[in-house]
Amino acid sequence: MKTIAIYPGSFDPMTNGHIDILLRAAALFDKVIIALAHHTEKNALFTIQERAELIRQCIQDIPNVEVDDFDTLLVDYVRAKHARVVVRGLRAVSDFEFEFQMALMNRTLAPEVETIFLMPKDSYSYLSSRITKGIAALGGDISQFVPPHIEKALRTKLANAPHQPFLENQS
Ligand code: ADP
Repeated sequence: MKTIAIYPGSFDPMTNGHIDILLRAAALFDKVIIALAHHTEKNALFTIQERAELIRQCIQDIPNVEVDDFDTLLVDYVRAKHARVVVRGLRAVSDFEFEFQMALMNRTLAPEVETIFLMPKDSYSYLSSRITKGIAALGGDISQFVPPHIEKALRTKLANAPHQPFLENQS
């Protein structure tokens, strides 16, 4: 039986930290589905379609990874995909409390679904989409944090978007 893992998130946009986790998951499971959560649409810089397209360009050389989106409860989506595993990345201690709560809540709702946490390379352990957007919005160099096509998309998007205080809020 094939082991399918779901890697859910907002990916607004995908960073090298996300890609690091994704490569680790792709080495462990037969198939990994990156699942863009629709409930993240409201506060996002990129639309779901834009984020999916940016992700597609990141994964074109990884045969067992695909991108999808969902607007249901995560556990219902996991079941619909016949998956058993949810993959999440753990950066610093600050991620732990929220992730721990979500994992145990999901286990209560769907005991057969296991959440697996992977840690990125240490140099990505401080990296987030929010901080990357904040640095880019202030004209900083983000070339170490995202692939070139995402850097370009961010610059274009930010040039046309009204000022957003990425570095000041926690969303
Ligand atoms: P969410 O909005 O659900 O937090 P994100 O798109 O920000 O989703 O992230 C999706 C997953 O990837 C989460 O598990 C998050 O902890 C993880 N992640 C994000 N950035 C990194 C990083 N730099 N290193 C490792 N994991 C990360």
